[in-house]
Amino acid sequence: MTVQPIRLFGDPVLRTPAEPVVDFDKQLRRLVKDLTDTMLDAGGAGLAAPQLGVGLRVFAFNVDEVVGHLVNPSLEFPDEEEQDGEEGCLSIPGIYADTKRRMNVVASGFNEYGDPVRLVGSGLMARCVQHETDHLDGVLFLDRLDPAARKEAMKAIRAAEWYDPARPPTVKVSPHASAGPLGLVS
Ligand SMILES: [Zn+2]
Repeated sequence: MTVQPIRLFGDPVLRTPAEPVVDFDKQLRRLVKDLTDTMLDAGGAGLAAPQLGVGLRVFAFNVDEVVGHLVNPSLEFPDEEEQDGEEGCLSIPGIYADTKRRMNVVASGFNEYGDPVRLVGSGLMARCVQHETDHLDGVLFLDRLDPAARKEAMKAIRAAEWYDPARPPTVKVSPHASAGPLGLVS
């Protein structure tokens, strides 16, 4: 059984920046398999290691039937184009909000064997890569909403069945918010 429980908003692991992978070993490949299996089981477009409680810079993606993973990603944006569209998160079930992202991204990183890989994505793939890389920095899509939309989302979260008042979630303002449209670089 490699499908693992997904950590929910309020769990401190989701707010902890993840560490770079150093050893491209069997354990890493096990993690990639767990991420991929859990993501596919949950019907998600992506899943980052902190969502399984693992503080490593790894995520899996599943966009337009392209399933893959990226280790130690770094993002570059080839242009200024933006997109706005609905975004959700497997760690914040049932909550969706329009979230601004860059339209095009070039992600550099490694596969599970340590080979360098480059992922050029636009639209939904670019959105996914930005969302998952945010997870590795302890950032959630809620942080990227404007204050009114964030307030509305928090209200919906407090009313959600999974919400645990003993572990209240924290929303923080994006650390990149003041950096303008180029601020999504992680
Ligand atoms: Zn997410």
